[in-house]
Amino acid sequence: MMEEYDYDINELKAAGKVSALAMGHARTLAKPGAKLEDVAQGIEKFIKDSGCDMAFPVNLSTDSEAAHYTPEHGDARVIGENDVIKVDLGARRNTNLTDCAFTLSLNNKYSKLVEASEEALENALSMVKSGRSVCDIGGEIEKTARKHGFNPIKNLGGHGISEEDLHAGKFIPNFNNGDSTQLKEGELIAIEPFVTTGVGQVTDGSTTQIYQIISTRMPRSQEARQVLEFCTGNYSTYPFALRWLISGMKISEFMIRKSISELITIGDIEAFPVLVEKSKGLVAQSEKTVIVGSEGCTVIT
Ligand code: MN
Ligand code: MN
Repeated sequence: MMEEYDYDINELKAAGKVSALAMGHARTLAKPGAKLEDVAQGIEKFIKDSGCDMAFPVNLSTDSEAAHYTPEHGDARVIGENDVIKVDLGARRNTNLTDCAFTLSLNNKYSKLVEASEEALENALSMVKSGRSVCDIGGEIEKTARKHGFNPIKNLGGHGISEEDLHAGKFIPNFNNGDSTQLKEGELIAIEPFVTTGVGQVTDGSTTQIYQIISTRMPRSQEARQVLEFCTGNYSTYPFALRWLISGMKISEFMIRKSISELITIGDIEAFPVLVEKSKGLVAQSEKTVIVGSEGCTVIT
């Protein structure tokens, strides 16, 4: 029996189409020598010019960074020809969110790693249907990664998507974790295999560029109040990048950073540090958002 879900199918499909086009656009921007900040801004501009809001800041994680790196304001980092770059992006129409990603090995030095993540996604998607246990999808991802001589990242995985939350409900593992929770018809989910040359685990890195408002308790300082008001007004409860505040607000970067610290301390902001592969292995990721069907799935992105 199909349950009622909280997405608007037409809005979701529109966001999905923009996401898919944005991934294509990202391929034209992400070239050796390009500044990461220009690439991220170019993709974000494309999504906004296409009539969508950002579901979250464009993530451009490189090499052993698995996720959550978005360029900082004035970021000096430039794409190198040996880089393995994960482009992870999402478009939003009202409360309808998408989440998708692909990996580039610009000189094809690590194309086997990239292809393993793509094949793992393809195989996983071919198994998606209502009644399927999430551990069986994880098992398929694991099997595909290992067949190519790589490890799946065990503490990252796919997820349910709700209108408030990009990571809601189910966790869809990248290995057989024994979780027999079943997918349901109509459910909106993201599947995202991560494969690595390393041990297959991520840990928090030393920098944070992505944040999210999780509460609106009134902070003590005037600047922190301004930051809270700016973020709730512009990004609601969806993730935002530090560079968006620095370019969008009239207060100094120093005060913005100080205010964020204050808002974290009182529990208004959650921080998403960069996630780095524990053994510094190279990481590739492929991701799509899909709706679970009775005999398969509908790809949204
Ligand atoms: Mn995701
Ligand atoms: Mn993603």
